Amino acid sequence: MTEFELEIMTPERHFYEGKAQGLTVTLPDGLFTILGGHAPMVAALEVGELRYKTDGQWRECAASEGFLEVMSDGHVIVFVQACENADEIDVGRAKAAAERAKERLSSSESIREYEMSRIALARAMNRLRVKGRSRYI
Ligand code: ATP
Repeated sequence: MTEFELEIMTPERHFYEGKAQGLTVTLPDGLFTILGGHAPMVAALEVGELRYKTDGQWRECAASEGFLEVMSDGHVIVFVQACENADEIDVGRAKAAAERAKERLSSSESIREYEMSRIALARAMNRLRVKGRSRYI
């Protein structure tokens, strides 16, 4: 299988940099997998699943919104607002964030407030899903 160079970055850190044999990200219309040799593209990423295959093994993390670029030399760059491995996720914090977001959702008084709360709830549920603690898969 063709390998490609993958970089996963957040504003705070270089989450991953190295070879990969596959990458699955969440686009607005669903999951999308990239293999080596993919045509150049850019895409907006939604909060959700982000998996990448290195050393023949898929690794899953919780990713927030961002974007993806496949460059003409095959290099793939993912830039997301936040990204955590399962062992970095604080379940208590994610549950508290989910509760706060649900309360804000039900009392939203503007579309902007509603959207912010919806995305915050998605981030929290995604973290719980990656940690295996969510019914919302
Ligand atoms: P919170 O309200 O708990 O801050 P949030 O969804 O608003 O949650 P983000 O803005 O997405 O948080 O992330 C801010 C920073 O905190 C990022 O570095 C992110 O990786 C980290 N982070 C957020 N929630 C968790 C969590 N449950 N466990 C570990 N790290 C987290």
